[in-house]
Amino acid sequence: MGQKEFKRFNMIKPPTRQRSFLMPIGWLACFPAKWLHRYTITKVNMEGLKPPYLLLCNHNAFLDLMITTTAIFPHRANYIAAIDGFIGREWLLRQAGCICKRKFTSDVQLLYQLRRVVKNKDIAVIFPEARYSLCGTTSDLPDALFGITSYLNVPVVTLIMHGHHVNSPFWNTGGRGAKPLEATMTQIITAEEAALISNEEVAKRIKEKFVYDDFAWQRDNHIKIKYKNRAKRLHRILYKCPNCNTEYKTESFKNIIRCKACGKNWIMSEYGELSASSGDTEFTHIPDWYEWQRDKVKEEIKEGRYSFSSKVIVRSLPNARGHINLGEGLLTHNSNGFKLVGNYQGEHYEIKFPVKSMYACHIEYNYLGKYGDCVDLNTLTDTYYCYPQTDEFSVTKLALATEELFKLYREEQCKNPDSEYSKSLVSRFRK
Ligand SMILES: [Zn+2]
Repeated sequence: MGQKEFKRFNMIKPPTRQRSFLMPIGWLACFPAKWLHRYTITKVNMEGLKPPYLLLCNHNAFLDLMITTTAIFPHRANYIAAIDGFIGREWLLRQAGCICKRKFTSDVQLLYQLRRVVKNKDIAVIFPEARYSLCGTTSDLPDALFGITSYLNVPVVTLIMHGHHVNSPFWNTGGRGAKPLEATMTQIITAEEAALISNEEVAKRIKEKFVYDDFAWQRDNHIKIKYKNRAKRLHRILYKCPNCNTEYKTESFKNIIRCKACGKNWIMSEYGELSASSGDTEFTHIPDWYEWQRDKVKEEIKEGRYSFSSKVIVRSLPNARGHINLGEGLLTHNSNGFKLVGNYQGEHYEIKFPVKSMYACHIEYNYLGKYGDCVDLNTLTDTYYCYPQTDEFSVTKLALATEELFKLYREEQCKNPDSEYSKSLVSRFRK
């Protein structure tokens, strides 16, 4: 069977309203998490607000979903969720009100589905960063978000949750009992404003609220994490040594991250800060180290030195029944974007993902606990999980490079008002 014959996931099925019988089950599952973390949710300008509205939440861990459910209690919602969350449980997720989307694709169908949610007088919940934050800081938001917001013409609310990353970091998940945690829920656009406000103003207000840094929040609020292995797997996001500049040679265990090339060690405190065990401490704040790596990748791109190429194992996900092993392929990433070439059952395929089509990409660390690190590339009908077969790489670097390539593309395009990108912005921001 060739790839063309795979049954595709039905992306256009209208959203299901959350079933009444599932709602108390959801509350029973979510409220204990709120109590366990001694959670405080501060509501700003929320008095008297009833659904429908659009709720935009930051995204760090599974706990986000649980806290969101308690924050909107007792109202119904539909959640935009990625297809990989649906594997083997499509029926349940549909009944729970989830709407499926492939990550980082422009999907016009989504607009109609959100419109339906609003007509049902429910809450449309979006995690616009579209992936768990890699180091507990804000990720880029897609330009399309601001257009969607305007299109729906309903109040807009943000829910920014703090402490979820330090409690269960994406690079080594599992609850660490962080408490007390807090969130702020703010109505940033009222019903009256929604009809009048310009799209630029919508973008400005959303961006103002989507600013967070979990490690800074932990430090400033003295949130102690006693977990002994708190630095274990931190090397997944900190892949480049700031002492000797070697890449892919960091390792981590207990509360230590170290470089195998030069032997330097850094200790992670109970408040999430780093200190070198000898010599200068380059970065006490983990996101500063992470952003330094980003700057280095940007330099490589600008100087034309950035490129990645590796043999990969490819698994695709055309529907929610499970992954299909497509065998070996070749993945390259450079200033032209990603290219995946392979052969499945005698059928050659070549898929390109140009820089302009991806403002970010999704990665996984040891996906599903057994497959290893991967980058997943999405078309509107399929997702290709690519597992590089080499030790000399970091999916974190691929993610940073994708973002920086797009930013440079955007910068170039914005210089010219007649460019493809500038024109798309004008049409998006026209009301
Ligand atoms: Zn080193």
